[in-house]
Amino acid sequence: MGVYDFLEENERLSEDQLALRSRHLLHNQLEFARGQSPYFSNLLRDLSVEELLSDPERWSDVPLMDKGVLLENFDVVRTRSDIPHHAVGAYLDDRSRADEPFNNSDDLLVVSTAGTSGKPGHFVYDRLEQAHIRAQYFRFMRAVLNTVSPTGPLRSAAIIVTGAHMIGYKMQRLLPPEFFRMIPVLRDGRPVTVEETAASLEEFAPHVLTCFGSTLRMLIEYKEANPRFSWRPLALINTGATLDKDLRRRAAEAFDGVGVFDLYGSTDTGYLAWTCERGSMHLNSDCALMEVLDAEGRQVPAGQVGSIVISSFWHRTLPIVRYRLGDLISVSKDRCECGRSLPVVGELLGRENTLLYRRSGQDLHPVPQGVFMELFENIPGVKRFRLVQEAVDQVSVLVEPLPGSGAGLRDHVARRVAPAFGADCAVEVSIVDAIPTSPSGKFLPVERRFDPAAARRASAGTV
Ligand SMILES: [Zn+2]
Repeated sequence: MGVYDFLEENERLSEDQLALRSRHLLHNQLEFARGQSPYFSNLLRDLSVEELLSDPERWSDVPLMDKGVLLENFDVVRTRSDIPHHAVGAYLDDRSRADEPFNNSDDLLVVSTAGTSGKPGHFVYDRLEQAHIRAQYFRFMRAVLNTVSPTGPLRSAAIIVTGAHMIGYKMQRLLPPEFFRMIPVLRDGRPVTVEETAASLEEFAPHVLTCFGSTLRMLIEYKEANPRFSWRPLALINTGATLDKDLRRRAAEAFDGVGVFDLYGSTDTGYLAWTCERGSMHLNSDCALMEVLDAEGRQVPAGQVGSIVISSFWHRTLPIVRYRLGDLISVSKDRCECGRSLPVVGELLGRENTLLYRRSGQDLHPVPQGVFMELFENIPGVKRFRLVQEAVDQVSVLVEPLPGSGAGLRDHVARRVAPAFGADCAVEVSIVDAIPTSPSGKFLPVERRFDPAAARRASAGTV
């Protein structure tokens, strides 16, 4: 059976049947990893897979891995001999080879992550694995297409970094240009302007557009300021951080009630979650075991936010087991009215380093991200902001003002932000013309730049 049909069938299983099937897939995957990957045969050597899966304590003893661990151990994790890391690394370091296959083999997709936050990651997918990623995408697109009725054949576009070893570019570069267009975010090393992007959209007139939330925001603002911008999308697909409610509303107002969908995934793991017709975000629990863990590595109760940890059922070239993505998520107890058995995401907060902390006595407590979204929405004169917590007691804020905002904006923002972090926190506010975004268009409105565990230890040590 094709991977896509398999995923479609899974959506109609009962919760219990789906759980049983997922367990079976995980079982097979762990047997494979232990048998074929030196790294996992060593890691899991003393345990049978059955023992691991039936004893939660043993399972939680399996060490976590992440992008860095995979990169360091690439040559012992891999299950095939023709992808030594020195060759993979040399290929990925050479951007001019992005349109060439690795090792003259069309079977392998060899890709890297941008590494805008830390080191880039290196990943290899064979044909079957690529089929899994496509099937996950089609599963999502079926839900999108249930909500739109284009006249004529569907045209879609994606705004991405082109001509690089990025998965989005490499998987889509050979699609037929009459149905799919890639719109670059950089041209000759220079960021493409919103006017240029708008012109490409008017010219190709895609029904569906996929891009990062920051780019969507830019296009929405452009449409608000230029009512004659004639492009009429039927669906907008946001990747990266989840869009705030305000932006969804503005998108619908600017573009004639357009539907906005979220698609959550990564180069490391394939697609993990996606919005259905009813607006719920479903987890691909038939593609990976997804654990939600607290800072100490314990499973958090349903509904609570924790760090997402992935054990893929289909990564065979480079198996990943208990792989920490660094994103924060909660899984809801609710089921979706669309009838799919896949679990529903409560909240997806994005990267862990967007969780900020305040000092409370000798301890640190997380400050929910929504606090700042709401706070800044209620400060008149703020067009956009970026808040960075450099240390527990040190916060810097960049503010892009609306035209005509008063001279007191800087002090006003400082006075409003400070209480969220406690009395001892220094808040430095700068008013800027434009808030910079990363070249890929990812935009983090809030970011933490210290390790809360280390700060906690330091705080306890000073008493
Ligand atoms: Zn649903």
